[in-house]
Amino acid sequence: MDPMNPTPPSAPTRLSDVVPADGQTRIVALTGAGISASAGLGTFRGPGGLWTGNPDLEEALHARYLPGNVPLLWQVWGGLRARAQAAGPTPGHRALAVCGTTIITQNVDGLHQDAGSAPVIEVHGSAARSRCLDRRCGWHGQSAYAVGAPDPPCPRCGGPQRPDLVLFGESLDPLVWAAAETAAQCCDVFLAVGTSAFVTPAKWLVPIARDAGALCVNVNIDDMPPPADPFHVHVIGTADSVLSQWVADG
Ligand code: NAD
Repeated sequence: MDPMNPTPPSAPTRLSDVVPADGQTRIVALTGAGISASAGLGTFRGPGGLWTGNPDLEEALHARYLPGNVPLLWQVWGGLRARAQAAGPTPGHRALAVCGTTIITQNVDGLHQDAGSAPVIEVHGSAARSRCLDRRCGWHGQSAYAVGAPDPPCPRCGGPQRPDLVLFGESLDPLVWAAAETAAQCCDVFLAVGTSAFVTPAKWLVPIARDAGALCVNVNIDDMPPPADPFHVHVIGTADSVLSQWVADG
């Protein structure tokens, strides 16, 4: 590959070259941290990543430290949601909402719902929601966390709440995962946007969609395909530019 021109020769420049935004094609998008990058939320790893600047934080957020790490969970995940609300959805989120694309997201920032997308399958849960730490109580609902305010108690039992997302050391909700698998199996195009396709089990959705007959397309700023590349097509560019252009072409 020419180092001065990192775009592989086979990569189309426009998403509309391979995926029509015609409202007829059944499109499912799998999104990751990259679609929220321009909202200033950053990634976990890599330059400027949450764990890069504070390597002990990943361990401290593990489920094994519940309930002692609940204040830290709110600080990190409640803080991420507060920053997402302040920034609002990116052009990439808005483009997927305009196209009526079914969303499977690994993100926990709530920005697809803020953009108006439905349905949104949140495989890792959401920092916009909260649930009672005591499973016998079972309360869950919208998070009332506010930066700088005391962590809100459970409105049903008065005990502590926790962000309603999948912590390190916890399993995915089997019903949510089943919904993601079904969506991947029932689409014409499976469109990954801003994900390294590294994190399991979300990365398994690409071969699931491919085996079911979907065209698998990857939108990413990185021109390096993942190992054992499961995609048929790569479109290189930012989520905002590629998806906005796609809507404009449609
Ligand atoms: P990742 O950090 O592993 O990968 C991000 C990918 O996005 C990379 O491949 C990168 O090249 C690409 N990217 C970066 N900027 C981009 C842009 N502007 N346009 C297009 N692509 C861009 O993220 P992941 O695959 O989502 O997996 C990591 C886990 O961390 C997931 O669970 C993820 O949801 C979670 N996470 C979520 C948030 C959030 O909710 N906003 C933030 C950080 C991490």
